[in-house]
Order: sequence, then C-alpha cells, then structure tokens
Amino acid sequence: MTDESSAAITEGPSAGLDAVEREIVAACAQARRDRASVTLVAVSKTFGADAIVPIIAAGQRVFGENRVQEAKAKWPGLMSGYADLSVHLIGPLQSNKAKEAVALFDAIHSVDRPSVCQALAKEIKSQSRHPELFVQLNTGEEPQKAGVSPAEADGFIAACRETYGLAISGVMCIPPVDEAPAPHFALTAKIAARNGLKNLSMGMSADFALAIQFGATHVRVGSAIFGHRG
Ligand SMILES: *Cc1c(COP(=O)(O)O)cnc(C)c1O
Repeated sequence: MTDESSAAITEGPSAGLDAVEREIVAACAQARRDRASVTLVAVSKTFGADAIVPIIAAGQRVFGENRVQEAKAKWPGLMSGYADLSVHLIGPLQSNKAKEAVALFDAIHSVDRPSVCQALAKEIKSQSRHPELFVQLNTGEEPQKAGVSPAEADGFIAACRETYGLAISGVMCIPPVDEAPAPHFALTAKIAARNGLKNLSMGMSADFALAIQFGATHVRVGSAIFGHRG
C-alpha cells in the first residue's frame, strides 16, 4: 500500500464522516479498545434529508436528534428503505412526548426526572418497545442544563430501576462548554461503574477521542460530520 492510498483524503459529503471514523479507530487503538465497543451516533439535528442521505449511503446507521417533533418529521421517510437504521434521542424529553419518543427512538439519552420515568414506563409497557435508556447527568451542576446532579445520581438510578422498573443501560453527560471535559468524563465513568452500568454516552465533535480514552461507548458527533449548523 502506498502512502497515497493509506492517507487518502476523501472529499464530498462523507469526508467529515470518514475523518471522524479514522479518529475513532486511532483513539480505540490508543486506548487498547475494540472499535466495535464504540457506537458513533451521527447527530443530524437541524439537517435535512439532502445532508443525511449521503451519510446513510456512506454506511452510517446510527443517528441522533435532539427534538422529538423534528425527528418525527424527518426519520420515518428516511428509514423506509433501511431495516437497520436507528435514531437516538439526545435532547430533552418531556413526559407528554414519551409516547412518540418510545414509538420512534431506539435509544433515549436524556432520562432525568421522575415524571419522564413514569411516562416512559407506561409507554414501554403499552407499546412493547424497549428503547435503550441513559440517565443524563449534569456533571457541571449548571442550573440551566438538564440532567441529574452527581450527588443525586445513585438515588435516581435506583428509583428508575426499583420504582419505575426501567432497565437503565448507561449514563450520559454534556460537559460545560467552558471547562476541560476530562474531569466530567471521569466522573461520568465513575458514577456508571458504581451503579453497575456499562454504557457511557459522552464526547462530541471537539472531544470524542478524549471521551473514548475515558471509556465512552457512545460518542455523539454532529458538526464534524455534517458541518456547521445554521
Ligand atoms: C448537538 C449535540 C451534539 C453534537 O454536537 P457537535 O458539537 O456538533 O458534535 C451532541 N450531544 C448533544 C446532546 C447535542 O445536543
């Protein structure tokens, strides 16, 4: 293999995806992790079918959206030709949207309050659909941000399981924009470990390789794949 082919720079709509994939492979190698242990969630919020179709064509199968209504308008059409596409909700969920969320999403990364747990439990039962559930942590304890504070995390996860009968698969965090993410990734991993949770949803365009070093199993990457959001 020549240098030229191994370092081939792709252009066109999947150039960002290709670059992200190479960085995930490198981060996994560095962390001595299997590439298959990291799911790339391509965050397609605000982008339309014209931007998403080429990314599907390039082989990406897991996507993330932050609004229930937007996802509902976009994805049923996009999914029709593909049996193996999945869409994850990464943005806030209100209990009055739980029915639509359970019907549409294969994973929900934003479980953070009892009213949502109760609504999800009811819909999971009545629809017999079981999206993978992540508890969102507010590791920076930012007042404007969704998520459970680190001090309340163990109690909340226990209530999800015992009071609402929810199978929690992991925890998710969004570090404060103005802080180094590493301590937030470390804290998220620690909270997961002590609660017996194996999945960690953490890392975005700017820091997904670092998140993989801290054990991320789901990286949520938007602008590095799709470009800037308008
Ligand atoms: C938008 C968003 C992302 C992706 O952010 P980028 O910086 O564009 O990669 C990840 N997670 C959540 C919760 C988001 O809302």
